[in-house]
Amino acid sequence: MDNIPNINFIITMNQKIQKIENDVQDRNSAAWKKLCGYIDKVAQEEREEFSPLEKLGQELFSQIYTLPESISKLKKVKKLWLYGSNLKRIPPEIGQMESLEYFDPYTSYNLHWLPYEITRCKNLKDSRVSTRVLYGNYKNKMGFPDLTNNPVRYSGETVNCSICNKSMSYEETNQAWISLTVGTDILPLLANVCSTKCKDKLPKPPKGYIQFPHKGGSVLKQLPDEDEMFELEMVKQDGESNVPTESMTEDNKASRNEAPVLLKLIRKLWEK
Ligand SMILES: [Zn+2]
Repeated sequence: MDNIPNINFIITMNQKIQKIENDVQDRNSAAWKKLCGYIDKVAQEEREEFSPLEKLGQELFSQIYTLPESISKLKKVKKLWLYGSNLKRIPPEIGQMESLEYFDPYTSYNLHWLPYEITRCKNLKDSRVSTRVLYGNYKNKMGFPDLTNNPVRYSGETVNCSICNKSMSYEETNQAWISLTVGTDILPLLANVCSTKCKDKLPKPPKGYIQFPHKGGSVLKQLPDEDEMFELEMVKQDGESNVPTESMTEDNKASRNEAPVLLKLIRKLWEK
């Protein structure tokens, strides 16, 4: 990789790299306790809709930054209303909401990623997400946070493999970003994998997205904007085949093929 001279250019395209924030929630607050009580009630009454804003009111709902793990009990909920929330993350237990059909965190501007486990909601066919605020969105150019050393902590000392469910320590897991279609949106998902075998079972992302699980960080070439997309299209038409729209310099297997085209693109952009 020593012969990539324009690495600084890539980094300048990735200035908006956030750090992962853990411990986002005060779990002793009245808002949190009321939310937990509401979840129990919705579970017990086997309700099909979950709308914490309605139950908590705007003031308390605005103090909710993640959802309780007990959402796993919401087995009958088909519609999850999280419109206008301050949510920063959603726990992997969402994957146990087996009846979920509709997911709506619209205008939740702090929700930049979701847990891979949401892909287990096999009935989820509709969603309304503010995709502009998602990591890797080509309009905001907000880069994926660096997952080296597995910085994402859910509640508890262990984490389960997103593929085989094996329980692991945070030292054992391998965290990766992967963009996949969920409902009607393509979302950046955080996967925890226990092995290469499980990593290989992660599905292939849709076209136009990074084509493999990755660690994010500043060396990751961000999705191009519309102008760059055009440039890239030109490069492709010049006869280079099989080129994803973005590339990651630290991933050997991917960069080997993409590097010459990436450099060509960078050169073109540099000259602009
Ligand atoms: Zn596994």
